[in-house]
Amino acid sequence: MSIAERYQRVAAEVAEAAMAAGRAPEDVLLVAVSKTVGPEGVAEAIKGGARDFGENRPDQIVLKSAAFPEARWHFIGNIQSRRIPEIVASATLIHSLYQRRHAEKIDRAAAELSKVQDVLIEVNVSGEASKSGVAPAEAAELVRAVAALPHVSVRGLMTMAPAGDAQAAREAFAGLAELAAQIRSQLPADDAAVFTELSMGMSDDWREAVPLGATIVRVGRAIFSESYQE
Ligand SMILES: *Cc1c(COP(=O)(O)O)cnc(C)c1O
Repeated sequence: MSIAERYQRVAAEVAEAAMAAGRAPEDVLLVAVSKTVGPEGVAEAIKGGARDFGENRPDQIVLKSAAFPEARWHFIGNIQSRRIPEIVASATLIHSLYQRRHAEKIDRAAAELSKVQDVLIEVNVSGEASKSGVAPAEAAELVRAVAALPHVSVRGLMTMAPAGDAQAAREAFAGLAELAAQIRSQLPADDAAVFTELSMGMSDDWREAVPLGATIVRVGRAIFSESYQE
C-alpha cells in the first residue's frame, strides 16, 4: 500500500470509529504525523487527502510548512525556548505546551506576528516519569494563566498514554477527558467556549481514544511506515 492509500484507510477507520461512538466523523480530526518522512512523504499523504500534519522538531515544521502552505501544521514535540519564534511562525496548533514561561514567550512571538496562537496543554495523566506534561492537579491553574495571555488561545488538552497497554491507555484518556470537563466548567464563558479539543491517541491506541472523546488523533506509523502492523 502507498502512503496515500494508508492515509485513506486510517481516515476511513477513524470516521467509522467516530460514528460507532455516536459522534460525527468530522468531530475527530486525523493529524498525520510526518516526522519520519521527508517532503515527498508529505506530498504522497496530501494526494491521499491529508491536510493536517504533525511534526515534533522545529526545523522540520519550518521546512515542511514552507513547502506545503496549503496544509495545517501541528507542533507536537518538546518545546525549546529559543525555537519558539519559529514554531509560532509555522504552527496552526501547538499540542505540547506545559510550562508557563514557554506560554509567555509564545504570547510575545505571536504578538510580533499579529497572530493569536492556538495551543493545547499537555498533561501527564499517567504520571510516568518518562512523559512530559503538567501534573493533572496543576493543569487548571496553568490553563487559566495561559488563557489570560492576549495572543494565546487555549483550545484544550493533550496527553500521551502508556505504550503497549490498552487498559492503561483507556484510563489515561478517560482521565484526560474528565479533567478537561472539570477545567472547562470553571473557566469564564468565553474561554470555555473555545476549550473543546482533546488530542489523544496514536497509531497503537487511537481506537481506545475515539470512544473516550478524542477530537484529534495523531497518527504516524500507521500512515507512513510500510512495516507497521496493528
Ligand atoms: C510520534 C508521535 C505521534 C505518532 O506516533 P505513532 O505511534 O507513530 O502513531 C503522536 N504524538 C506524538 C507526540 C508523537 O511524538
